[in-house]
Amino acid sequence: MKIALIAHDNKKDDLIQFATAYKGVFEDHELFATGTTGLRIMEATGLTITRFQSGPLGGDQEIGALIAKNEMDAVFFFRDPLTPQPHEPDVTALVRLCDVYSIPLATNMGTAEILIHGLERGDLKWRNIIHDRKSENK
Ligand code: PGA
Repeated sequence: MKIALIAHDNKKDDLIQFATAYKGVFEDHELFATGTTGLRIMEATGLTITRFQSGPLGGDQEIGALIAKNEMDAVFFFRDPLTPQPHEPDVTALVRLCDVYSIPLATNMGTAEILIHGLERGDLKWRNIIHDRKSENK
């Protein structure tokens, strides 16, 4: 599965802690992240992550482009709800695209716990049907 990891600055430590705790699950998947989030998680965990631009410089939109192609299977986006973000429109667009494509999205640690256990248990296997359909239509 392709998984996106994004955290606003005040939430980066939380996502690093989360990625460290669930490294054993994440390492079975293909990981993508915005620039700084990806770098910090790689440094802390040794996980391999494809990094895009930093969020405010377009990284959210790059991840959004993969969602728009229905290629991203799950998104862990630890948002900071208490601090205004210069790229708020991009944040809104990313959340919106997840809803357009029914992509599982965790925006806080509570939901992230549920999503990671679901991922581990195979609850996201329905995404393989989407991938199979896409490759049949190529
Ligand atoms: P960053 O971007 O990982 O480069 O900090 C995240 C964001 O703020 O959207």
